[in-house]
Amino acid sequence: MAASPTSNRAPRPRHVRVLATLGPASSTPDQIRALYEAGADAFRVNMSHGDDQGKMALISAIRGLESEIGRPMTILADLQGPKLRVGRFAGDRVELAAAQRFRLDSSAEPGSVDRVQLPHPEILAVLKPGHRLLLDDGKIVLRVVEAGDQQVMTEVVVPGALSNNKGLNVPDVVVPLPALTSKDRRDLALALEAGVDWIALSFVQRADDVAEAKKLIGGKANLMAKIEKPAALEDLDAIIELADAIMVARGDLGVELPPEQVPGVQKHLVAAARRAGKPVVVATQMLESMIVSPSPTRAEVSDVANAIYDGVDAVMLSAESAAGKWPVEAVTMMDAIAREVENDWAYLQQIAFVETAPEPTTADALCQAAHSIQTTVGAKAVVCFTTSGSTARRIARERIPADILVMTAKLSTARRLGLTWGVHAVHTRDIGSFEEMVAKSKRMALRHRAAEPGDRLVVMAGVPFGVPGSTNVLHVVRVVGDELDRYSRAD
Ligand code: PGA
Ligand code: MN
Repeated sequence: MAASPTSNRAPRPRHVRVLATLGPASSTPDQIRALYEAGADAFRVNMSHGDDQGKMALISAIRGLESEIGRPMTILADLQGPKLRVGRFAGDRVELAAAQRFRLDSSAEPGSVDRVQLPHPEILAVLKPGHRLLLDDGKIVLRVVEAGDQQVMTEVVVPGALSNNKGLNVPDVVVPLPALTSKDRRDLALALEAGVDWIALSFVQRADDVAEAKKLIGGKANLMAKIEKPAALEDLDAIIELADAIMVARGDLGVELPPEQVPGVQKHLVAAARRAGKPVVVATQMLESMIVSPSPTRAEVSDVANAIYDGVDAVMLSAESAAGKWPVEAVTMMDAIAREVENDWAYLQQIAFVETAPEPTTADALCQAAHSIQTTVGAKAVVCFTTSGSTARRIARERIPADILVMTAKLSTARRLGLTWGVHAVHTRDIGSFEEMVAKSKRMALRHRAAEPGDRLVVMAGVPFGVPGSTNVLHVVRVVGDELDRYSRAD
């Protein structure tokens, strides 16, 4: 990747990653660049909203930024999944009043204050009087009073403003829906064609859903399982085993479950993912009030901080960065919270509450040893040469209080690591010898400002070099200072 020597190559001054959703408030190259500069490490493209052209434009804007800045960028395409949504309104939104009647039907006509389309015939077919309909993350509640042929009449129980394509949860009905809708299959093909790094699968109910999606993805991207259905909690270990990461999708999870159960579930999910060494993202309503206000509530700041104290890999912004009035301020706020938490001496103590005992593999034994060496000698960074990224994920699992500088010749690996705690990935040429490994570690640590002359580095690699799954070298080096001049050739 082309990069000018003056480009900002230093690791972020924090380990937790910030995932920002893009949307109308953050769709131009300048707006996306501003989010990156404020601290966004990865970008989510929500496949539920907008047209194909708009999504492609977002992806190419991110790739443009990537080559301009010279840092790998991480793109997550979030498939809508079998999420139920209402249709659109003439005038984009309506205000529903308490006790009024409101019809859901199959007509594609733009909606009004009296009716809107529910483009899911299978749901209209199973709704019965008494069933609750929860709209817009449960903010509006309707109750079915009359069920007809391809339409239902409801009464507004909890009123509010309803706008285009808002989500609908039907907790009283079990609907047999596949993991990927036909829209998801089209969106998946589009996203893979555009070269995204991650696919998020919504409303995962069982490990089979993940297996099916993985088969369709065919290794072209990593897969993040969104945990937002109570059923997924029953099959959690198998889901985590198959997925490459999980998202604690608290929006739908808090509608499908009583909201008071979500904090505990979040903690269990974070711990389970961390033990497995898979990235875990906490999402939804993290700085919700910043959609309209330049400063968050104290409770929101606490929520973000507490997720970080639990040791999450990444925190996510949804509408705050996609459609709010203060997208850059929201990213800046997350960055500030993360830095503050990570500067607290208690942070490392807190995240160590989740025990991540090594598995009986050479890689895990070396990672554990690297952790011990790093803390004993106070090494500034762990430099990790990897092809698949698996060593980087195992070392991140150790939550070592140092930067993890990952050297990889695979651009896809560098990009996919953008959601992993503490990883600063560098796309660079493979090394061919032990001497090259040592020289390159020092040179790159200096160039990326991860170390200064006199600092020690812990280096991990595999011999033979460039062969995946061969991590078996652990080496400690000291940066001298003239490495930058001595090894001036291009990497
Ligand atoms: P969504 O997923 O924003 O796509 O609904 C996240 C959530 O449900 O929390
Ligand atoms: Mn959701």
